[in-house]
Amino acid sequence: MVMTLTGDPTQAERPVREYLAALEETNDPKASTRTLSLNDPAATWTAAPGGPAFFAYSTNYLIDLEAGIILDVEASAVNKAAEVEATRTMIDRVEETFGLKPERLVGDTNYGSAAMLGWLVDEKDIAPHVPVFDKSERTDGTFGRSDFTYDAENNRYICPAGKSLKPAWRSKQKNPYRYRASQLDCQACPLKAQCCPNMANRQIDRSPHESARDVARAITKTDAYKQSRKERKKVEMLFAHLKRILKMDKLRLRGFSNAKDEFLLAATAQNLRRMAKRLAINEPVTQLIPA
Ligand code: SF4
Repeated sequence: MVMTLTGDPTQAERPVREYLAALEETNDPKASTRTLSLNDPAATWTAAPGGPAFFAYSTNYLIDLEAGIILDVEASAVNKAAEVEATRTMIDRVEETFGLKPERLVGDTNYGSAAMLGWLVDEKDIAPHVPVFDKSERTDGTFGRSDFTYDAENNRYICPAGKSLKPAWRSKQKNPYRYRASQLDCQACPLKAQCCPNMANRQIDRSPHESARDVARAITKTDAYKQSRKERKKVEMLFAHLKRILKMDKLRLRGFSNAKDEFLLAATAQNLRRMAKRLAINEPVTQLIPA
């Protein structure tokens, strides 16, 4: 429910009116009142697996894995797209503010979308130590995309029967990355039942970011990637510490920018604690000599 104020606002009423106007602007008329917080509409209605639903914001950290220091914090809505966008914002901001750019990004499958990998590899030159989000593999026993070899020189795929799948010119406007086998080849092919049993010929869609995905796939086979998976636990530990030790399981203030401020303060406390520990290890212990 949004209250409406009429008449000329006094100086004290003006911020209230601005707040209510901002609420109206963010109001989604299609949103269900059950999933829309009436006193904090920017919060997301969410739930942990098997747990009760609640309204929340997501806190996103950019961490220097080696030092365990939080370099940046960004609040976001609780969904994958918003969290990935927050990571892009933090990477750009840390580069602009401190001149620091990560050599690698360690994350979960949320960061393995084609668009994110393309941005990391092609635009930022950051090695993606993330699992590739890939739905091209099939579960019905027929050939998945990994059974086809991409021939970059000739811009074609080679199928398991050794035939070519070339860019499908007819659908070029709609999807310039669609490759098709010849109908004649497929109709006469002994592997057709394993390849495209319900289609006249096989087609494959290639992502415009496929080369970046190939870079990520190659990294997943390295020892450095295994090490990154282990180091990722440090991130989980920081979030666990936030809830269990700092008891930050609820926000005291409402609104997106207030959530951001609270997350920033919490991260600062975590950094100070971390730095105090590191300095305590490096500094010689002061001896107390009784007088
Ligand atoms: S059905 Fe077509 S695409 Fe599939 S293996 Fe045979 S020739 Fe190649």
